Amino acid sequence: MISSVLPTYARAPLSFVKGEGSWLIEADGRRFLDLGAGIAVNALGHAHPDLVAALSEQAGALWHTSNLYEIPQQQALADRLVEHTFADTVFFTNSGTEACELAVKMARKHHYDKGAPERVEIITFDGSFHGRSAAGIAAAGSEKMTKGFGPLLGGFVHLPFGDHDALTAAINDKTCAIMVEPVQGEGGIRPLPDACLKGLRDLCDQHGILMILDEVQCGVGRTGKLFAHEWAGIGPDIMMVAKGIGGGFPLGAVLATEDAASGMTAGTHGSTYGGNPLGCAVGCVVMDTVSSPAFLAEVNRKAGLLRQKLEGLIAGHPDVFESVRGSGLMLGLKCKATNMDVVNAGYAEEIITVPAADNVIRLLPPLTITDAEIDTAVVRLSAAADALS
Ligand SMILES: *Cc1c(COP(=O)(O)O)cnc(C)c1O
Repeated sequence: MISSVLPTYARAPLSFVKGEGSWLIEADGRRFLDLGAGIAVNALGHAHPDLVAALSEQAGALWHTSNLYEIPQQQALADRLVEHTFADTVFFTNSGTEACELAVKMARKHHYDKGAPERVEIITFDGSFHGRSAAGIAAAGSEKMTKGFGPLLGGFVHLPFGDHDALTAAINDKTCAIMVEPVQGEGGIRPLPDACLKGLRDLCDQHGILMILDEVQCGVGRTGKLFAHEWAGIGPDIMMVAKGIGGGFPLGAVLATEDAASGMTAGTHGSTYGGNPLGCAVGCVVMDTVSSPAFLAEVNRKAGLLRQKLEGLIAGHPDVFESVRGSGLMLGLKCKATNMDVVNAGYAEEIITVPAADNVIRLLPPLTITDAEIDTAVVRLSAAADALS
């Protein structure tokens, strides 16, 4: 008999009743060190007092009114995002995949309104992940995500990851946009080198193509910059954001330049919940915290510490681990053992990691993780590896 919860997940037999900073606690009191952060969502850890205060205060005042009216918290968060990024304008969603939907619509409408309605093709790359909506799965294009769900939304061109010749060959009069994650998350923590992002930007400029960056996983301080593309010194035309921006409250956004967004006039898009007072009240606190240079400097310092310790872990367990890759506190351990075995051995040592493609385990701790917790994390990962050796 089918379970009352639609069985689309193979869940671990863990169930948490409380979160405190970098820790998740089960009913029996077992404390797990959380290097998953709800898949890069709990950027400030669990139950951060400032987030709890912002949410509680808003919950006592007003939950929802809809976008038929002004929403001051939404205005405040949009102003912060515009102040700290390339963007001139922001639309709020409840998730990453909804941000993908709008990014696709916005890019096509841009060309349509500029008199080039034939420019509909969006180039994406192998191993990418853009969510589970119709546009999201068509964008990623992998058999795993699309099989049985056709007919798929058309107009996506899928290219091998990092193949410059294939990319230049794929660009033609119908090309609308290039959509890419600066660091692939689900694809196994595969960073796009800065030179590639710069090259993509140049190519887009030459051909009047819009650059859509999916920073749903790698954004909001995760790589040690507010947004990952800042490392390459470039800016996109459109950017998808979610996960960390809500710190655990469902919140997403599409950021865009004025030119890219020029087609999105009144009535062209909408969302009942998107940008509601609860999510935006929390998002403002996340932005105020994560956009501070001192906070980002700490992320970078701790990322260096963790990475150095992981190099030691790999050297000590060459039969289990192969290498570490990634950026900031978005790290992937490429495994020699089966990645799911490593994740499960971690559970036995009360540490949480997240599997990804390419036999990688992801380490996406809260950005607030302490030095002492980094020490504990590596001790527990080492114990998990010992159990597998
Ligand atoms: C998680 C993710 C999404 C989808 O976000 P949801 O909130 O799950 O819809 C899209 N793109 C990337 C890069 C992601 O990591």
